[in-house]
Amino acid sequence: MCDCAEETKGGKGLLMVFTGNGKGKTTAAIGLAMRAVGHGFRVCFIQFIKGSWRSGEQETMGRFRGRIDFHVMGRGFTWKSDDLEKDRRAARAAWDKAREAIFSGKYQMVILDEFTYLLSYKMVDRDEALGVFSKKPQGLHVVITGRDALPELVDMADLVTEMREVRHPYKNGIRAQKGIEY
Ligand code: ATP
Ligand code: MG
Repeated sequence: MCDCAEETKGGKGLLMVFTGNGKGKTTAAIGLAMRAVGHGFRVCFIQFIKGSWRSGEQETMGRFRGRIDFHVMGRGFTWKSDDLEKDRRAARAAWDKAREAIFSGKYQMVILDEFTYLLSYKMVDRDEALGVFSKKPQGLHVVITGRDALPELVDMADLVTEMREVRHPYKNGIRAQKGIEY
């Protein structure tokens, strides 16, 4: 593995958004992490919301300790609103972790997987979040995934890809599968 992360310094760090209803947003972010780490980048991958099962990516990234810091934050706060205050605290903690990673100077890439929901459910203040993204370190790549990205976020991003669903096996009653969905 080469150690050429220094090359990103002075380069143009991008704000990238993977959104839309089709499958592939999180897997695209995982792909970027794999590509970046191969060039010696240090990556921080923060997964919001999901927290109940252990995903394949969590296992894989665990093998890149020292290169990829992987965090799962939250507890399904968008649809299990049995305790809204607890959800808010979890979202807050996740956002604090994200902000810290962005300004830490430790990473060349910070990935906020499923972050769009924190904004659409107003768990994180929109202006504050957009302010952080607009002031991110110049050379840092930030990747945000999730459905329904806010128009303001889409406007400020350097790269936006919308995954469009053409067909999904779920429609034929095929449940989430290991190695494919998680
Ligand atoms: P992936 O993690 O596979 O890249 P994703 O990040 O694009 O998917 P999410 O919106 O985060 O998709 O959805 C999480 C899960 O829902 C994934 O396991 C995905 O396969 C599934 N999913 C995505 N699109 C659909 C759909 N149109 N109908 C049903 N399930 C879907
Ligand atoms: Mg996803």
